[in-house]
Amino acid sequence: MEHYVCTGSCGEESRNPGICGADFCSKKGKSLEPCSCEDGMHENAGKKIEEENPDLI
Ligand SMILES: [Zn+2]
Ligand SMILES: [Zn+2]
Repeated sequence: MEHYVCTGSCGEESRNPGICGADFCSKKGKSLEPCSCEDGMHENAGKKIEEENPDLI
């Protein structure tokens, strides 16, 4: 399921689009990035998946 994460230091995660609101975060006030990972690692947050990566499975 697609979700939204902050790629700064806070690691905020939301099911809906939004902005980071953590005072300590380097990306405070920036938009959360769309992510569709299923393992909770958010490795592809804010990136388009260009190719399959069979090594990760
Ligand atoms: Zn943040
Ligand atoms: Zn994710």
